[in-house]
Amino acid sequence: MKLRPSRPRRGVLVFAAAVVSACATRAPAPQPAAAPAAAAAARPASWETHELLDAVLWAQTAAEHDALCRQAFVLAAERVEQALRDPRWTALPSQTGDYGSLPPAVVFDADETIIDNTGFEAEMIKENKGFDGELLREWEMAGRATALPGALEFVRFLKEKGVEPIVITNRDAPRKPAVVKNLLDLGFPVRADGSTVLLRGERKEWPDKESRRVFVSRSFRVLLLLGDDLGDFLPGVDTTVDGRRELAESHRDYWGSRWILLPNAMYGSWERALYPRDVKGDRERLRAKYDKLRGFRK
Ligand SMILES: [Mg+2]
Repeated sequence: MKLRPSRPRRGVLVFAAAVVSACATRAPAPQPAAAPAAAAAARPASWETHELLDAVLWAQTAAEHDALCRQAFVLAAERVEQALRDPRWTALPSQTGDYGSLPPAVVFDADETIIDNTGFEAEMIKENKGFDGELLREWEMAGRATALPGALEFVRFLKEKGVEPIVITNRDAPRKPAVVKNLLDLGFPVRADGSTVLLRGERKEWPDKESRRVFVSRSFRVLLLLGDDLGDFLPGVDTTVDGRRELAESHRDYWGSRWILLPNAMYGSWERALYPRDVKGDRERLRAKYDKLRGFRK
């Protein structure tokens, strides 16, 4: 998953009333009975239809979201202890050979894995717009992401255990100073020189996360992978819904053991699997999504 300007558009809103009625399979959001006039005037006309509304509110307000994050990091810490006792333990299916003598590391994604970017997602809703690369650039350069619940404690625990925390993120390479500063400002014990924060495109041989995982595996025994997207664990995830399920299922022994997943219902490769790559416009993309719904009456 990534928050990148070049990714396919997602989270676009603004489907017109005609589309709603044509596709109407979900109840409209409740109308506020007595909203203050000023707030109502400021609210976009289609505010109740934004695709991201519930997912972003859940991440920003639900105690369940925060508990899921903490639950993931508690489990991850237990697995680290277990992995440190077993020199044959590795989280990378591709890691073979004499890796047991390598220093230990844990590899994790940044966005929606250890830091919270819902401020950017919420801004898209408040401004009633779809994915906006310039808005994302502004967000990332401002370094305003916050730590997810339990993330700081976990990464500090790694340092105490002598385990190297390594970030693999698909943020674009030119924004590296901003993301490293954001992480350091939050108190994450990553190396200040940024050598353990690996961005996409930082080297020409790093087009994807798998290539960076392989790079890390040459110097470290990788105890765990943590992420919010299938791509944080496996290559080839931009495929069909069924293909993604098969990929995940074919590695079922890794989940909860060597691979720990964080919750993100806002965006990711799961969402891109819902419509064709060559989809033309927001309306066609949204129709493709509706076609994926499974009801029970028809
Ligand atoms: Mg992520």
